Amino acid sequence: MKNNNGYTPSTKTIAAISTPQAPGGIGIVRISGPQAKEIAGKVFLSRHGKTLEEINGYTALYGRVHDGETDIDEAIALNFTAPASFTGEDVVELSCHGGLYIMRRVLKAVFAAGAVPAGPGEFTRRAFLNGKIGLTEAESIMQIISAQGEQAAKAALAGHDGALEKKIIRIRGMLIEAAAHLSAWADYPEDDIPEVNPEILETTLLTVKSEIETLLRQFDAGRAIREGVATVIAGRPNVGKSTLMNLLAGCERSIVTEYAGTTRDIVEDTVILGDVPLCLSDTAGIHITNDPVEKIGVDRARGKLREAQLVLAVFDSSQELNEEDRELISAIRDSSAIAVVNKSDLPPAIDIKYIKKHFQQIVYISALSGDGLQEMRDAVAEVLRTSELNPADGILFTERQRDDARRAGDCVREALTAVESGVTLDAVTVSIEGAVSALLELTGERASEAVVDSVFSHFCVGK
Ligand code: GDP
Repeated sequence: MKNNNGYTPSTKTIAAISTPQAPGGIGIVRISGPQAKEIAGKVFLSRHGKTLEEINGYTALYGRVHDGETDIDEAIALNFTAPASFTGEDVVELSCHGGLYIMRRVLKAVFAAGAVPAGPGEFTRRAFLNGKIGLTEAESIMQIISAQGEQAAKAALAGHDGALEKKIIRIRGMLIEAAAHLSAWADYPEDDIPEVNPEILETTLLTVKSEIETLLRQFDAGRAIREGVATVIAGRPNVGKSTLMNLLAGCERSIVTEYAGTTRDIVEDTVILGDVPLCLSDTAGIHITNDPVEKIGVDRARGKLREAQLVLAVFDSSQELNEEDRELISAIRDSSAIAVVNKSDLPPAIDIKYIKKHFQQIVYISALSGDGLQEMRDAVAEVLRTSELNPADGILFTERQRDDARRAGDCVREALTAVESGVTLDAVTVSIEGAVSALLELTGERASEAVVDSVFSHFCVGK
């Protein structure tokens, strides 16, 4: 029999260790499915002889886990009765002592009693199939598990609360309303339906387009916060790249000397600046050189510059700009770059007008004293647009979600072109329906089995 969500509930009862595969204070074996209580009852004996069937959901029993012959461990059996559980099925969680050996013996006993091993993400998958959570929420659970920084965790939590889903449903609602009005008018033109007002239609489509564009833009900012940004510190020798890197890393990391060209190798480090993890590489400058070792460094620096998501172009404010500085400026023309005008503690000699002409973001800093670090944080947030990211807002988390949002955006643009060029309203309806369908896939309400499989294949066993 199908459930409300249109899926057939599984008849199998699954089990896995749901805590990390490492020693810990306690470890949990989770059992979910129609026989959860019966199977748990075969391996768990409560101290006072009560069974899991006798107790209410959300209550626990204290007792022992055994494998039929010997006791394995003391345990608490926590009881959840369908549908009031994470998966929507009967669930029993056996909390034991955290040793891996013990956990594995308990799991083995649970399998011997009739459960089958849970696949990757299968608990969360069942929660989705039983209508307990949406697809985007399932994806954000995965993000919560792997979130690195505070901001990333907040965003993932917001996703878990359904912020993205709510936003998508709202956007979709506007489209559905427009499409419904269009079809009603096309089907019953003689009836009392007000004529389609192209201006109102256009306004709706423009609003939707702009909301989708914001979502897509924030995807990159969200990714920056989650995964870190490949950042290159570039500049000619002696401008203070290594000193800046050390300042950011908060420790002596690369070799700092007073002789030009000492940083031949690329040194890497990850620092969190504001909310954003930066994966920093300190490079050799890109100067013309005949030294074969330096040449390798310069070529590698150019390669790094091309790949970088963010370039911190460092200049020495106490010196005039030279050919090498200009070469760097021209090499990063198309990059997201911040001009870091260093050594602000020394009397200025730099042509700041030239810098202003080529960079939108300029920060004055003394890498030696740390003055200007806050301005640098702000500039990074500005360039990567992380400052406009409110984690409580719905944001796109995964490439899958982004692709669906893009498709919806393309359809809305098509619809707009159709409205503007005055072609038949049928064409507009078709495009709007395309957008609605892409958004239905985004939330998982119309996702194919292959999509669902692929989402859950990224989870680990036990989740
Ligand atoms: P790199 O070759 O670009 O990596 O430059 P370094 O970090 O090795 O710095 C070159 C020299 O400039 C060192 O003597 C640093 O102490 C000095 N330096 C770096 N930043 C500053 C700064 O903000 N103010 C002053 N006065 N000196 C600095």
